[in-house]
Amino acid sequence: MRPEELLHTTPQGLYSPAGDFFIDPTRAVARALITHGHSDHARAGHGAVLATRETLDIMAIRYGEDFAGAAQQASYGERVQVNGVTVTFLPAGHILGSAQILVEHRGCRIVASGDYKPGADPTAPAFEPVPCHVFISEATFALPVFRHPDPARETAKLTASLALFPERTHLVGAYALGKAQRVMALLRMAGHERPILIHGAMERLTAYYRSRGIALGDVRPVREAAREDLPGAVVICPPGALADVWSRRFPDPVTAFASGWMRIRARARQNGVELPLIISDHADWDELQAAILATGCEELWVTHGQEDALVHWAGLAGLRARPLHMVGYGEEEEAPAPPSPESGGS
Ligand SMILES: [Zn+2]
Repeated sequence: MRPEELLHTTPQGLYSPAGDFFIDPTRAVARALITHGHSDHARAGHGAVLATRETLDIMAIRYGEDFAGAAQQASYGERVQVNGVTVTFLPAGHILGSAQILVEHRGCRIVASGDYKPGADPTAPAFEPVPCHVFISEATFALPVFRHPDPARETAKLTASLALFPERTHLVGAYALGKAQRVMALLRMAGHERPILIHGAMERLTAYYRSRGIALGDVRPVREAAREDLPGAVVICPPGALADVWSRRFPDPVTAFASGWMRIRARARQNGVELPLIISDHADWDELQAAILATGCEELWVTHGQEDALVHWAGLAGLRARPLHMVGYGEEEEAPAPPSPESGGS
């Protein structure tokens, strides 16, 4: 069968007419398969949801226990039948519970990878290349300028600053699901032993990571910290809180932001970030190419980001490739931070 008969785009998102299900739909549908818990992929209100245990748990934490009419768990590697179509969830390496979804029917294999990252991450199971005919990829950082450095080297910038400014609180902006917990784990790997203080918005998700066996060391709510605990402490907060009234309680803080976008110096400056940390949960330009080639796919479909650049590269590599022009993705975890009021909004 032609791949388009197995999966194609609709206004609600990627749809399988053969299996009558959607993958990461952007509107409420009867049956949804969800790759991971970020809010641009996992939305509330579907009739039935099939996802990994962690993604189902994260959706319940964010939206409440009644986030869907029915929820079914898919274990990594388990082949599940959905209306006669076989689907298999495989690790995507993006955040805890994140999955690529292999869709198989009548000899045709399509992998919808969601967001993915091949690099090592102690807080997420490692990305696995899956052989397929069609690979569906994101393109968030699909430009040659995006080559993510070693996360340990970026973390060392933070520990060096703590050593240099032991009296200043280090405020680190990081998305509440995935990035925040990864920064904590990276700090522990770098030998940082002090309690890490966190903003209220990430308490429940961080507790959930710990409950799933992710070691993060001594992590405490910053609201419970005493004044004398703050000098030299790392406080992790959502990016929006950096410019918020909330941040004014810390005298003379060092402001850091952990994001792949910190590769762009102008963007760091625009947001008043003193210490940009290039730490991303998405594949960079080289990783995208290696991951796509590792699948042995004949065809590449591109969902969101720098679609044109990735499609162009794929053509040169001998693949058939096209953008899917999907809207609604890329709005949570690696979305560019809003400009600060001082920047004039440009
Ligand atoms: Zn994501």
